[in-house]
Amino acid sequence: MGSHIKSQSSVDSNFTRHLPKVELHAHLTGSISPQTLHDIWLERKGQDPSMELDDPLKVMSTEKEHFNVFTFFPLFDTYIYNLITSVSSIRQSTLAVLQSFYADGVRYLELRTTPRAVPGTSISKQIYISTVLDCMDEFFQSSGNDMSIYLILSIDRKNAAEEAAQTVDLAIEFRNQGRPVVGVDLCGNPARGDVSTFRVAFAKAKDAGLKITLHFAEIPASSTEDELRALLSYQPDRLGHVIHVPPKFKEEIVEKKLGLELCLSCNVLAKLTEGGFAEHHFGEWQKTGCPIALGTDDVGVFGSSLSNEYLLAGQHFSLTKADLLGLSRSAIECMFGGNEEKDKMYKLLNDFQELKSASP
Ligand SMILES: [Zn+2]
Repeated sequence: MGSHIKSQSSVDSNFTRHLPKVELHAHLTGSISPQTLHDIWLERKGQDPSMELDDPLKVMSTEKEHFNVFTFFPLFDTYIYNLITSVSSIRQSTLAVLQSFYADGVRYLELRTTPRAVPGTSISKQIYISTVLDCMDEFFQSSGNDMSIYLILSIDRKNAAEEAAQTVDLAIEFRNQGRPVVGVDLCGNPARGDVSTFRVAFAKAKDAGLKITLHFAEIPASSTEDELRALLSYQPDRLGHVIHVPPKFKEEIVEKKLGLELCLSCNVLAKLTEGGFAEHHFGEWQKTGCPIALGTDDVGVFGSSLSNEYLLAGQHFSLTKADLLGLSRSAIECMFGGNEEKDKMYKLLNDFQELKSASP
């Protein structure tokens, strides 16, 4: 093999970490690191030695195998939700998640979470959401307003129609109080539920001016014509994953130029896609002109930060630094936070680009 002098513009982790980034597809609970969960576990164990939950560092170890679509959802339902059951642990974990996105160079964040009441405590869905929002306010101020943070409320596919409508009501309620709730999402185990159940809820969200993002075509069973037709009829602003999209739906998505949230590591490690990173459908969608926002999905579970997702995209799709700047700009187009936020983010990227081209 001949030796190649690496092109000046080849990407490295230093570049992707300093690149100002937009994160639009991150689930709050799935973004909590095993270490933070471990700290919370230690504290609870100290208060109650008879607590039966195992150490998160053991439960979430990926040494043997990564979580897949069958083992992923039970991790939350039977484990993490049972570990984080107090206002103080919701605060501790939320603040830690915000700090790690910030430290990774994220400068605009839309975090999503499913409103959750904690059984046997005074924590209602309202208290849960307001606790998360308070953390977001606190963090925004303490970071010197450096990272804008918004919240998306998720409807879980296992919800009944009334519960979904309640989630939309909560989004409207908090937004009317001036809190930064920008939209609603549909998430959860794609093997479960009938999405037509949520027609009324999403119509209400749309009427109220909330933005809509949907987990879309994650597995073949959730990519039927009926399901995808129903989901597109909810007039989403963005789609997440878009893995098993049949050609005619692809055409429609491209025509509408919907924003796409693509999560490389999550898809590859959970085996939602085949052929590793090089065969990820990022390569296909990239050619379509739809704006793309790379996202981490669940960095606590999959262990890949947003800067690492940019690095992986760069390495596996031969993208230059200029391409990655373009990719970060394309994520700005997908933001729900309004034009002022977009302008702020474009400026950050322009400043970063100037700084880079000025440096030797
Ligand atoms: Zn997701």
